[in-house]
Amino acid sequence: MRNPTAFLKEDYENLVKNQLDWKLQNLESSSSPHSIVNGKKVLMLCSNNYLGLTNHPKLKRAAIEAIEKYGVGSGSVRAIAGNMDIHIKLEERLAKYKHAEASLTYSAGFTANQGLIPQLADEGDLIISDQLNHGSIIDGVRLSRADRAVYKHCDADDLSHVLDEAEKKNYRRILIITDGVFSMDGDIAPVDRIVKLAEEHGAMTYVDDAHGDGVLGEKGRGVTSHFNVEGRVDVEMGTFSKAFGVAGGYVAGSRDLVNYAFNKSRSWLLSASAPPPVAAACMAAIDVVENEPQHLENLWKNTRYFKKALKDLGFDIGQSQTPITPVIVGESGLAKKMSTRLFEEGVFALPIVYPMVAKDRARLRAMMNAALKQEHLDYALSKFEKIGKELKTI
Ligand SMILES: *Cc1c(COP(=O)(O)O)cnc(C)c1O
Repeated sequence: MRNPTAFLKEDYENLVKNQLDWKLQNLESSSSPHSIVNGKKVLMLCSNNYLGLTNHPKLKRAAIEAIEKYGVGSGSVRAIAGNMDIHIKLEERLAKYKHAEASLTYSAGFTANQGLIPQLADEGDLIISDQLNHGSIIDGVRLSRADRAVYKHCDADDLSHVLDEAEKKNYRRILIITDGVFSMDGDIAPVDRIVKLAEEHGAMTYVDDAHGDGVLGEKGRGVTSHFNVEGRVDVEMGTFSKAFGVAGGYVAGSRDLVNYAFNKSRSWLLSASAPPPVAAACMAAIDVVENEPQHLENLWKNTRYFKKALKDLGFDIGQSQTPITPVIVGESGLAKKMSTRLFEEGVFALPIVYPMVAKDRARLRAMMNAALKQEHLDYALSKFEKIGKELKTI
């Protein structure tokens, strides 16, 4: 008799053999500048907690108060018995913040992409994606029966060419999708040019701003504010799991978009609503981002300081325009070795290797954070210098 589950062990062992498996690190404290990882106190340089809000007293208080009033779970999906007033208030608050008519929250950014993208384009339609879009967009596109086309990364001229070709085919609808900020390199999509091209061709636009939310634009309103195109992107999608320090995805746009999205997205209709403390903490996060500008200022101050110092030391930090700071060393083994040595010296920055990036572009990725102090950055830089020299990457 064959063993129907033998592949589980075999496939896993193959991943291990090829060094493609994930070795999970154990975070034993809050995500803070000084975190405890695998029992060791380290400087946290790989969290998406850009503004340091995971641990902000106002967010914690809001979550605790919501638990006292509403309990820890909503008990249902929104469409049945889980539509609490706190969810509606969050969506009104978010829409106001984003300068949008309406917004809709999902359990995660991933499920927003997965649930909504396939409903926006079907057979007879075309979805056009940036070559390096996030995996959750790719999965959302895969669930659609629409034709697909890809344009070169951040290349609006190539997109223009793809749109010209598409015009010959008489598609019912065309949907252009891009990340706002790309998480591996920290570069920003040319959303201003994309919006203009879409308007010229009558195409819809969908921007996933997971890494631009809370980071770019006025009061952290994201990539559309950065490029001054607020109100001109049809679907502004984002997440509370990164700069906002909590969890949960969302889309912002017209009332028509929201009515359509919640009636059609299976990942919204068939998945329970956010626990009350999560919704309350998200609302508090928006308040903090709007009313405490020091976090955004610190984030960018740290980003400028850290990037300049790494460059001055002779590191290749790529083309990032955001707090995402790749330190490109080339070969996978070298990136892994550098991460291990930095960890031993008390700095936590994970390697990013093939298949996430090209084989010869392996890197460490350091994420800047508003809560880091000058002394933290200087400590990290002294370790980067020491290990860089030791491994001859500078
Ligand atoms: C992190 C991320 C997501 C997923 O967001 P979650 O809320 O954590 O599920 C989606 N898109 C992009 C571009 C991301 O970086």
